[in-house]
Amino acid sequence: MSIRNIPISLPALGEEELLAVQEPLRTGWLTQGPKVAEFETAFACYHNVKHAIAVSSCTTGLHLALVSLGIGPGDEVIVPAFTWISTANVVLYCGATPVFVDVDRRSFNIDPTKIADKLTGRTKAVIAVHLFGLCSDVDAIREVIPSHVKIIEDAACAVGSRYKDKYAGGLAEIAAFSFHPRKIITTGEGGMITTNNDELADVIRQLRNHGAAISEEERHNGPKPYILPDFNLLGFNYRMTDMQGAVGLEQLNKLNGFIKERTSWAAWYSEQLEDVEWLTPPQVVTTSRHVWQAFVTYIDSTKAPVSRNEIMEALQFRGISTRPGTHSVPLQNYYKCKFGYKEEDYPIARDCEANTMTLPLHNCMTDSDYMYVVNSLKNIV
Ligand SMILES: *Cc1c(COP(=O)(O)O)cnc(C)c1O
Repeated sequence: MSIRNIPISLPALGEEELLAVQEPLRTGWLTQGPKVAEFETAFACYHNVKHAIAVSSCTTGLHLALVSLGIGPGDEVIVPAFTWISTANVVLYCGATPVFVDVDRRSFNIDPTKIADKLTGRTKAVIAVHLFGLCSDVDAIREVIPSHVKIIEDAACAVGSRYKDKYAGGLAEIAAFSFHPRKIITTGEGGMITTNNDELADVIRQLRNHGAAISEEERHNGPKPYILPDFNLLGFNYRMTDMQGAVGLEQLNKLNGFIKERTSWAAWYSEQLEDVEWLTPPQVVTTSRHVWQAFVTYIDSTKAPVSRNEIMEALQFRGISTRPGTHSVPLQNYYKCKFGYKEEDYPIARDCEANTMTLPLHNCMTDSDYMYVVNSLKNIV
């Protein structure tokens, strides 16, 4: 077998994106403008949700979601302990307190049965993360929280995902998606907020644009150029550029193809790895559409021939990049120091950080790449 170089992820970009990105450069309208507006409309339509509001990242999108709900000092927001760190960071940006809940070892998502214990009179929201492309069990979460507590979807990994008969982005009060190159579709950096709530959408559109009551584009197109916008809110500059909007539109056109390819290779991996007794492939929930942002396996350290890290090193030696699933956020130094968390506080999140391994699965891999990964893994010892 030859030594290859299979990265953990690669964005699938083509001539379409190369052409599309040129239009804003030619017209000179570079900041949020007509391409972003088109991308928003198409994104909302795909996910069957009323409003889609483009932002500079999923992180800034989650921040605006919390601000639009009025979350601030003294409030608590429930977040899963196993997630990308910004799910919790955004709560701190608002001066509120993240309250961690451990995850389910099979789905890697928040464990709804552990939420009730963490509810207090200050709980204002739950951030339900659809980790690696599998939706959180939003109905089970809803059942265990009071009706005034809002659910925000961290749908960073879940472009195109479905939960029961609904798309991610329309399962709760507000959602935020990511277009980072490691996600399902990309605009470089970038994100999208979705909501069915007209008032929240109106506030979020202002918040992303310095708090301005009207956008630059509206002003530019309007009949009275001397009218300055009013600033009624403390806003941010969290806008997406029109170059990104143009790329996003082309990526969205390819989304169904991306998901189809990812789904069939995920099924193939799971089937091929069935007889590796020390490795558990990711969970498939028949009522959900997993979009396979990442194929995250669990290594049983009591059965594996060598440690998880040694397996990862051996694969790297064969030119195959792997990664741990994601982080146990309470165990990151900033959180440990600020809140005094201990190693044993969130045992499942800690176990997932230590024993998960993401295999390469993306839209730039060949059939023989996948076969090479499986053969390498089976011949690890
Ligand atoms: C990638 C990711 C984010 C952050 O997305 P950005 O667009 O890079 O800000 C947030 N949450 C989860 C679960 C993610 O995977």
